[in-house]
Amino acid sequence: MLSFQEYSVEQLQSLQAELNQQYSKAKSADLKLDMTRGKPCREQLDLSNELSTVLSDHNYLSAEGIDARNYGCPEGLAEMRALFADLLGTKQENVIASGNSSLNLMYDTVARAMLFALPGAARPWGKEEKIRFICPVPGYDRHFFLTNSFGIEMINVPMLPTGPDMDQVEALVAADPSIKGMWLVPVYSNPDGITTSAETCRRLAAMATAAPDFRLFWDNAYVVHHLYPDNQESVPDMIGLCAENGHPDRVFEFASASKITFAGAGVACVASSPNNLAWVRKQMMIQSIGPDKVNQLRHVRFLHNKAGVDAIMARHAAILRPKFEAALKILDERLSGTGCCCFNHPRGGYFISLFVIPGTAAEVVRLAGEAGVQLTPAGNPYPYGKDPEDSNIRLAPSFPTIPELETAVDVLCTCIQLAAVNKILMEK
Ligand code: PMP
Repeated sequence: MLSFQEYSVEQLQSLQAELNQQYSKAKSADLKLDMTRGKPCREQLDLSNELSTVLSDHNYLSAEGIDARNYGCPEGLAEMRALFADLLGTKQENVIASGNSSLNLMYDTVARAMLFALPGAARPWGKEEKIRFICPVPGYDRHFFLTNSFGIEMINVPMLPTGPDMDQVEALVAADPSIKGMWLVPVYSNPDGITTSAETCRRLAAMATAAPDFRLFWDNAYVVHHLYPDNQESVPDMIGLCAENGHPDRVFEFASASKITFAGAGVACVASSPNNLAWVRKQMMIQSIGPDKVNQLRHVRFLHNKAGVDAIMARHAAILRPKFEAALKILDERLSGTGCCCFNHPRGGYFISLFVIPGTAAEVVRLAGEAGVQLTPAGNPYPYGKDPEDSNIRLAPSFPTIPELETAVDVLCTCIQLAAVNKILMEK
């Protein structure tokens, strides 16, 4: 098959006419399809309905005999911490289980670092003239909104198939003491679905940084979110790896049950070195008299242990995998060989990341929106909402039904092809 770039003007014009027809037809179908966010669908949420009844025996005592209904236990119930430790491959004492949202814990951690000196810091980040974070791109838009809200400057570093481009990361952090942090979703990254290689993890743990208070924000949101449970991707325990490489306080790790049980009504955790956790605990104990331990108890009674989590994640995968495969089948059929889009086939996580012809992503999102298919705004997976190439589009296949998804992806393919043909013709 010829790529569109190789078509003659006449061939392109006839394709353009055909695509315009397809597009008008899609528009007249009055679609209302939302693929903007990685939300679990109703069948996935139904997997955890037992959370509402699992405490119906009114036994609120934790394994240690703590009454979950009362104040106290600021670092969370021991069994909840042990469960997260097991999922993350770390130790229970390295985990605080708190609140319902890992994003909230990330926000609080950055906010605390701005206000109170981190272990190893000369002063709070807020007292520094300039603070910068390394942001692997494309990345999770909410990390960038968070960073931007604190006035922290963001530096783009490309994601490679092995994770962030380490030659760039090492050079940047070695030279610039204002680089205090770096984001990473190490397993099934948002949006590329890339799992950082063991060698990249080792380099991140070992690299020399000009800032003594540099921190990795290791957002392990998709650590157990395998689409192919028999063929799982994983990363080493980063807390242990950083310690082995002489940087025991380098990493703050985050995770939550949002996409294990109920999105926004799960339990979140922050995991780190004893030093860092003591620093977190100091302010956390002033902020709150303790986390929602009733929800934690519900979660451990429902999930039990890592095997319990693996079992429910396999059921999520059974719902999600056909959706990813349906979307990818249409993308493969309609786009491969056209030269107007490349994309990954993720093995886990919640997203498919598309790279369309540079300069057309925003136009594709606009065209799709006008045809009733809402996508994440182009540019969102980049700091400041600016994709320098205007090329990346994030697809979230989890929420729609398969027929809706197939319609949406088909319309999207029309939009991608139409935007590409329009651009190529303009340049010919
Ligand atoms: N991190 C990443 C990479 C995510 O994709 C999401 C949710 N989509 C979150 C964090 C938010 O998680 P939580 O619900 O625990 O705040």
